[in-house]
Amino acid sequence: MSGGHNLAGARPALALGIPDFVVEAREPVQCRVDPDAYFVEGLRQSDAEALCDGCSFLDVCEAFALDRPELFGVWGGTTRRERERRRRGGPAVGVGAAAS
Ligand code: SF4
Repeated sequence: MSGGHNLAGARPALALGIPDFVVEAREPVQCRVDPDAYFVEGLRQSDAEALCDGCSFLDVCEAFALDRPELFGVWGGTTRRERERRRRGGPAVGVGAAAS
């Protein structure tokens, strides 16, 4: 019996395609609470990257996003442009880069 899941904010997250590991997380996950902050373009992405800093899903989220070129916005502390660079073999530069 799951009962303890905190699904506050899950509905807009689901609508935007946020993955199950975020939706079902027992702990608060910032992108579930405020998904609009992550689906931004341009300079605003730097602010969104900082929101991922310290997230317990950082590594799995980054891997999730690297496997999905169709995603836009910030995932796993990386922007879409950073993920494209990583797929081409470039260095990690997002908030998770130090842990890589
Ligand atoms: S790393 Fe960022 S986008 Fe991924 S689950 Fe955590 S807060 Fe959300």
